[in-house]
Amino acid sequence: MTDDAGDRVATLRRALTRGVDLVTRIGERLVAPLRTADDPNAFRLSSVETHTTTIDGDTGWGHRPPATVRCPECAAEILQADARDPIDCPACAAEFQSDRFTDLELLTLTCPVCRTPMQHGRRHPHTFDVPEWATCGNCQYHWELKHFY
Ligand SMILES: [Zn+2]
Ligand SMILES: [Zn+2]
Repeated sequence: MTDDAGDRVATLRRALTRGVDLVTRIGERLVAPLRTADDPNAFRLSSVETHTTTIDGDTGWGHRPPATVRCPECAAEILQADARDPIDCPACAAEFQSDRFTDLELLTLTCPVCRTPMQHGRRHPHTFDVPEWATCGNCQYHWELKHFY
């Protein structure tokens, strides 16, 4: 290979590197807004805030949707309509105070408006041991924990 050819290869390599840099920068610019929209929590929060006047919703543990939990004694389903109610098993003698909720397996949250099982989840899995939000796919009723007492 002559010195001249070597120079040309070096020039090509530099041009190629610049091209790759450019593609990478454009790629980042395209991906950045998609990442934000991809965050399911950000999307849900903003959509709820936009529609607060039209979508029914509640906040706080005292307004938590009715919950069905698993009885740890006999595996029956226990409905706790209000978060402050004692948790009474209809099938056996087991009875738990409302603060034992976190010890029990949560099966479903039920929409207080239309009785549809709700989607629910946690926003801070390492902070709370209870659901922090629930959404009804049927009537769009939305509940947020926000403050836990
Ligand atoms: Zn039971
Ligand atoms: Zn509903």
